[in-house]
Amino acid sequence: MILGAHVSTQGGVDNAPANAEELDIKAIQIFSKNQRQWVAKPLEEEAVNRWHEEMKRVGITHQVSHTSYLINLCAPDDEKREKSLDSLVDELERGERLGLTHVVLHPGSHLKEGEEWGLTRIAESLDIVHERTAGFKVKVALENTAGQGTNLGYTFEHLKSIMEQTREHERLAVCYDTCHGFSAGYDLRTKEVYEQTFSEFDRIVGIDRLQLFHLNDTKKEFGSKKDRHDHIGQGGLGLDPFRFLLADPRFEKVPGYLETPEDDLGGYEYDLKLLREMQV
Ligand SMILES: [Zn+2]
Ligand SMILES: [Zn+2]
Repeated sequence: MILGAHVSTQGGVDNAPANAEELDIKAIQIFSKNQRQWVAKPLEEEAVNRWHEEMKRVGITHQVSHTSYLINLCAPDDEKREKSLDSLVDELERGERLGLTHVVLHPGSHLKEGEEWGLTRIAESLDIVHERTAGFKVKVALENTAGQGTNLGYTFEHLKSIMEQTREHERLAVCYDTCHGFSAGYDLRTKEVYEQTFSEFDRIVGIDRLQLFHLNDTKKEFGSKKDRHDHIGQGGLGLDPFRFLLADPRFEKVPGYLETPEDDLGGYEYDLKLLREMQV
């Protein structure tokens, strides 16, 4: 696995590569704008140029963004859904200019309208977004969720359903979050269940769709449906799942981005040290 992390863009996106350099990582996830805003003003030409220079200088090989938490492609309210479409198009336009491989998206929340209804509405929304971003190289990566509230995407069947109903489904990938998967009831704690989980993923979604990971442990117990990230090895997952992932030849060239908290144990340095020790 190619180790990476969600890095800060404080002061501008073009500052992100230097933050990665400090951590000695070659894969970064960023917010390409304030994640609490619907649409932001376009990126300055100068910042985009400096971003590309910095990416090259630092030698970053994998780069993605995480979309705004406001986006809900199956919002029952039409106005909210319209805003979500505009916002995702905006994210993809930024992503294309920055040369990102993927824009990571939480599929959506059906807000009690029902799961089937929600999955279909998400696919219809993706069709519209794809039409409005024809020819773009950057892909939407659907992230598996913990299944909190009415969030969709907490089963492999949900991800499959969205892809099957989306016309240009080859423009979709999956980001597998280890914390979310565990909270949603996909175990990775022994070699046996680890293999079961990913062969189930392969059977239902297709392992080639799994193009990036979010590497997080969880503060909550198995099947909690809660989304609370913890440092690697400190939570319910423990160290073994990460050992398995790092040794898995299927994921040798797949990037894994840390989204662990900054606390008494430290920041990403803590997790990267552990993961690097496991990798050798
Ligand atoms: Zn995540
Ligand atoms: Zn999460």
